[in-house]
Amino acid sequence: MSQGSGARRIGILGGTFDPVHIGHLRGALEVAEMFGLDELRLIPNARPPHRDTPNCSAQDRLAMVRLAVQDLPPLCVDARELEREKPSYTIDTLISLRAELGEDDQLLLVVGWDAFCGLPTWHRWEELLDYCHILVLQRPDAGSEAPQALRDLLAARSVSDPQALSGGSGQIAFVWQTPLEVSATQIRQLLASGKSVRFLVPDAVLAYINAHGLYRASN
Ligand code: ATP
Repeated sequence: MSQGSGARRIGILGGTFDPVHIGHLRGALEVAEMFGLDELRLIPNARPPHRDTPNCSAQDRLAMVRLAVQDLPPLCVDARELEREKPSYTIDTLISLRAELGEDDQLLLVVGWDAFCGLPTWHRWEELLDYCHILVLQRPDAGSEAPQALRDLLAARSVSDPQALSGGSGQIAFVWQTPLEVSATQIRQLLASGKSVRFLVPDAVLAYINAHGLYRASN
């Protein structure tokens, strides 16, 4: 509302993308259209602090995300977390992005419900909203309940109408995306057992997986 006329809206979706799949892409595209984003950047994590080591190299994960978003503006890739020598903390990413943006530009951090529930374990999590708004994607497998610390944050910061997000940062909104109950874990399992993942990942990503023999059980 208080955005200047030249202000931009940039969305970011971080993840391991091991591999990127239609759940990520459809969510990203829907958010981009819903909010008229100038860019929605997919940001592959380098060494995710909360997760097991990804199953394929950072280089492969990045290559697959690049293939997935080619010719799909405003979706694009931001490789800054892979260029960093230390673990990928979202707060560091937000600070570096903010340094490149104008004061009025909106930065929208897009997270799935499962990721959002884990927010209180993130490094300097209470500062995240100083740098961005948070958009929570409702995910069909959302079984978990938000911890108390998050419920307090939601009471203070959530807006019921996502389109009413105002200013460059500081608020939380929920968005509903077409439910696609697919996960990278499922895709890795299918591939490891020799099954097809066609239609769960873009064809270009599937071609890359096949060409590089990724996720297949070694024999
Ligand atoms: P894994 O199965 O390896 O845990 P994942 O499929 O959950 O992976 P991530 O790379 O961890 O994928 O996810 C990045 C972001 O995308 C997270 O915020 C996550 O909640 C969200 N996300 C992943 N899959 C979906 C989906 N099917 N629908 C909506 N959001 C999703």
